[in-house]
Amino acid sequence: MKRVFFPGSFDPFTKGHESIVLKAFDLFDEIIIGIGVNSKKKSMFPLEKRINHIESLFENKVKVISYNSLTINACKNHECTHILRGLRDANDFEYEKTIALMNTQISGIETIFMLSDNTYSFLASSIIRELYLNGADISKFVTNAQKLN
Ligand code: ADP
Repeated sequence: MKRVFFPGSFDPFTKGHESIVLKAFDLFDEIIIGIGVNSKKKSMFPLEKRINHIESLFENKVKVISYNSLTINACKNHECTHILRGLRDANDFEYEKTIALMNTQISGIETIFMLSDNTYSFLASSIIRELYLNGADISKFVTNAQKLN
């Protein structure tokens, strides 16, 4: 049984995130989606709604949890062998590379990167939040808009 840990804020979960999860099913039997909770960083969409929403999208091959520890510790606690991250562009790569190398250095856990589909490479939760705050229709970009709040 191969299990991977997919960490993120998922505030909200977008079609870009969904595409990474779907691709990862080719490599892993089970995906644990870890929603990182930071007491200093307020989220826009309620945590419980995000958990229920993401869980409802996938059958029981995906488990959604929240964590407020180091990602490598949450990864180990949930018995995952690897961390999964999505890459949209070179900026993502530069940022992710440093974290991934550090994570391997301190825990031995490797990170697997998957490229975003071109259709979704412009999608970022931060932009979706901005659109949502200003009343724009975000339903094209998120997996199921009406369950967000
Ligand atoms: P974080 O705050 O940790 O970056 P996000 O929820 O923004 O959390 O993203 C979680 C993961 O999903 C990251 O690996 C990020 O690069 C990836 N990701 C975000 N948006 C997309 C997208 N449109 N396509 C592919 N991967 C994405």
